[in-house]
Amino acid sequence: MSSRNPLTIMETQRDRYARETQLRLDSLTVSTPQFGVLTRGRDEFELFIRMRKNFQLDRVSACIIRLFDVASTILPRIREEQQTTINGGVFGEDFRSVRKSTLILVDPATEYLFYESNLSKFTSSAVIPEPFREYARRCESKKKSQSSDEYLKWKDANHRMFWGETYNDPKKRIQVVGETLDLELRSGANVTMAPVPIKNSSTSFGISTKMNEVMRELSRDKAAQSSTYFLIHKSALNDERLMDEITSYIEKDDARLTILKFKQLDLTESARVSEREAYREFLLNLALIRQKKPSRGFTLLEGENQTFPSATVAFDLVSTSFTGQDGDGSGGRTPYGKWYDPKEMTQRDFQQVQRIVRTTGILPHGCPFCRSASNLSSITPQEWYAGRRIHYCHCMQEFMEMIARAIKERNVELAREKIVNSSMSVLKTLIPRA
Ligand SMILES: [Zn+2]
Repeated sequence: MSSRNPLTIMETQRDRYARETQLRLDSLTVSTPQFGVLTRGRDEFELFIRMRKNFQLDRVSACIIRLFDVASTILPRIREEQQTTINGGVFGEDFRSVRKSTLILVDPATEYLFYESNLSKFTSSAVIPEPFREYARRCESKKKSQSSDEYLKWKDANHRMFWGETYNDPKKRIQVVGETLDLELRSGANVTMAPVPIKNSSTSFGISTKMNEVMRELSRDKAAQSSTYFLIHKSALNDERLMDEITSYIEKDDARLTILKFKQLDLTESARVSEREAYREFLLNLALIRQKKPSRGFTLLEGENQTFPSATVAFDLVSTSFTGQDGDGSGGRTPYGKWYDPKEMTQRDFQQVQRIVRTTGILPHGCPFCRSASNLSSITPQEWYAGRRIHYCHCMQEFMEMIARAIKERNVELAREKIVNSSMSVLKTLIPRA
């Protein structure tokens, strides 16, 4: 199927947005569209558990954990839960009940083998699959012995070699996928995800499809539900052939859940005109594929600014970090991070938010945190840390409700208007008029 085929686009005109209102995955059924939180590290994971227990957020019931974070987040909780079961105590009861109603995805997050900002996490935990640990160890030792120019060259070649070997050597391939699968299942994943290279060429596309096939087979042996997972470099949107390849693969594939991550994509940047067009077509094609097979589900990870329009047009499950900011937490210079402005659909500095509260006396949002935060001059960094995350999830709950209503009432204009009236209005073209 060509994404530029006018017939394809025409076919989707009729009831383009009609879709199932639930996503069924083995024992778990969630209402769609649904929002998932990427929890980065222990503090966010524990906050997610508390939030799920304390608030009625039925459209924020998915949790995404990166493979290199499981040892410090969910694994200790699962061990504790098993311990409690043996002793018959009640410790860990909160986690048990939250887990039952939460969709857990463990993202292999193998792009960090290339981006390196989390490289040390691959070496520091004994549960990480050995091929990844070895890879990360090799990078760390080379980094020490080479100049940065030499290292960058070596790193590029080494990354290609790692995936080339994994692709060509059946033994290594099964080890990489098998150990990843085991760790995902130990971590309570409801659907398994293959470790894949970040895709910006047809070569890496071939490797990704192979890794997905192996994951599907190994998951079947363990009676686990697998997904099809593609990790896509943002430059792929400018590569028409590659996008067509991806679309046709997804069309022919029969995975219940297809998971996509467009790494570091921000379509609000004014120069990204052609990428916006390509993304819009891609969304339409996904909508068409689902029209033919209504049981298919699509998940978008690290959706960032594209989260809202993506959930409107094609995605059943969308996800961002706990604050909605990708770079959040990496700088860490101020203890008071940004607050998500649900009207403008963008982030505001703490100083701006303080000014709003000084002028109007309240934070302009109706969630429990915003209603209670009338004095920002005495709020502690810890209270702000938890509060702005819980606030963000309440915003996402409202957004998902709004989109669900717009689809149900066949009035997608409602969702489009939301974007038009925000500072994200450049993204309105992602939602074609009905
Ligand atoms: Zn709020």
